[in-house]
Amino acid sequence: MIEGLKFASTTRAVDRRQISLVVPVYNEEESVADFAAAIEKAAAESWREGEIAPHFEIVFVDDGSRDATAAVVRAMCRVDRRIKLVSLSRNFGKEAALSAGLKAATGDAIIPMDVDLQDPPELIRPMVDKWLAGAQIVNAKRIDRSQDSFFKRSTSRLFYKTINAIADHPIAADVGDFRLLDRSAVAVLNEMTERCRFNKGLFSWIGFRTETIEYARPARQTGSTKWDVSRLVALAIDGITSSTTFPLRVWTMIGAIISLLAFGYAAFLVAHTIISGVDTPGYASIMVTVLFLGGLNLFSLGLMGEYIGRIAIQVRGRPLYVVAETIGF
Ligand code: UDP
Ligand code: MG
Repeated sequence: MIEGLKFASTTRAVDRRQISLVVPVYNEEESVADFAAAIEKAAAESWREGEIAPHFEIVFVDDGSRDATAAVVRAMCRVDRRIKLVSLSRNFGKEAALSAGLKAATGDAIIPMDVDLQDPPELIRPMVDKWLAGAQIVNAKRIDRSQDSFFKRSTSRLFYKTINAIADHPIAADVGDFRLLDRSAVAVLNEMTERCRFNKGLFSWIGFRTETIEYARPARQTGSTKWDVSRLVALAIDGITSSTTFPLRVWTMIGAIISLLAFGYAAFLVAHTIISGVDTPGYASIMVTVLFLGGLNLFSLGLMGEYIGRIAIQVRGRPLYVVAETIGF
């Protein structure tokens, strides 16, 4: 208050808005302190003396870490009131952890970030500037991913290509969770009741005035990646099933085409039998047809299962995550 008055006498209307950085962490005891220090440094360098820097809060969401992450963050909360902790009762996955952080964050703008400094803190300033200029969402697009492994880059490219070819609403390629979201956008996200969360899909779906800045993605600074292949596959399937219905409908078309072909072939067989009698050979063609259709059947059944499983999860209506403890709010 007093600080505000002091500013008000020297500059005109002082508007120190608050930015929340939401950081899901899972077994990151060696990274959290580095992250907070890097933010501190970037903020000091980005907003020079005399400039009015926004207030920052860092909301760490401990996603059921089994190491000392929660203890380290708790100690940081004690010495720095801008650091806050939401502890989940177990590992719920990054998407749920991020949702918990978005709910808890109090800022006027909210930026989800990874703790490993792969989302460069220097980008916060340009994002905030675009936000102050009127954008409600500022995407950070990775134009150079040479630091990610070849496997990760190619699978991610394939994923974005596939999902954007069939999605009901396009998802910005190469934009991760790292983006600035205005309070009004976060309010909408917090209202959404979807259980199988794919945040990147939701972020694109909600709309709002969106701007994009570009950056080269650096390598992870400390610790090791928490995503193995099976988690990535699960995330990709979640992404596809939660933002598309095309894979469900496509079977109607494929089924119709195959039925038509089969009908034509049956007509041909009848005519052929009438004209030139029965011929027993044909085992191979029958086997091929049966196996092909069997495979197609199982595949489409499995696909239905993916969607139905998610309907079941939604209908159970369990909460997305369970908060065990919050500090600093
Ligand atoms: N993370 C999480 N819960 C999980 C897995 C990951 O909260 O179950 C966090 C992790 O601590 C990090 C962020 O999600 O802050 C991104 O993870 P990571 O850097 O391992 O992913 P990558 O950059 O390799 O995609
Ligand atoms: Mg990372």
